[in-house]
Amino acid sequence: MSLAGLSDYHVHTPLCRHAQGWPVEMAERAVALGLTELGFADHNPMPEPFDDWRMLREELPRYLEEVELVRCRFPKLPVRLGLEMDYLDGAEAWWEELRGLAEWDFWIGSVHYLPGGMEVDNPKYLSRYREADPEEIWSLYWKQYEACIRSGWFDFVGHPDLPKKFGFVPAGDLRRFYEPAIQALVDTGIAYEVNTAGLRKDCRALYPARGFVELAREAGVPVLINSDAHDPAELGAGYAEAVAMLREAGYREVVRFERRRRQSVPLPESGSGTAGV
Ligand code: ZN
Ligand code: FE
Ligand code: FE
Ligand code: ZN
Repeated sequence: MSLAGLSDYHVHTPLCRHAQGWPVEMAERAVALGLTELGFADHNPMPEPFDDWRMLREELPRYLEEVELVRCRFPKLPVRLGLEMDYLDGAEAWWEELRGLAEWDFWIGSVHYLPGGMEVDNPKYLSRYREADPEEIWSLYWKQYEACIRSGWFDFVGHPDLPKKFGFVPAGDLRRFYEPAIQALVDTGIAYEVNTAGLRKDCRALYPARGFVELAREAGVPVLINSDAHDPAELGAGYAEAVAMLREAGYREVVRFERRRRQSVPLPESGSGTAGV
């Protein structure tokens, strides 16, 4: 399918130490795919060295330069500047400072760390998943996710049901986890992403699951589709599945961001456009 009319705002760079393809290469791929807008959202720097999967604070200028370079080289491609922010308790003073360091178009709020330090999506913690009751990890995660939304710092939230990544899912109706998060989205007016990276993980499913999308649609929560590309080959990947799921749930619009102002645009029809891309 052609990706005309669609955007990809969750795109990483090699500065995070686990991605390849500099912004210029991502932009070349975006043009080849027909994407209408491209947004960069690398893992946010922290005031002090923090873990081994994000840019250092001193590398932020390089990040801004790389995105600026793309804007110069691809004047016809709207290029948005964002960050994938780790929601961590007590980080507000740093966020306040970081917010002033660039003209951000959007910030994604993501929960990768649980209180206590477990990393939800890091294979280092697979033994924790095997030993713990998934109910326990999911409960901790969704409580933190709701706090992330309610913090009000983010323009949209990332990969909602991330703890399913390795296939550990509690028994029963999962709406008990989704509902408080969706209520928080309604209360704050914040959007969420359908993130296609899950299709490439053990769970082989979009983040979030259809059940979440259906409830969010009924509640009128805005959405956008992103790939979470850590490689140009992943840009726009899985978009046909994501468009189909959103349309089946009743969505007809997706959102975009510029200087943190949100705009709704039509969601293209599933399977429209030229085949073979
Ligand atoms: Zn990453
Ligand atoms: Fe993430
Ligand atoms: Fe990401
Ligand atoms: Zn992510």
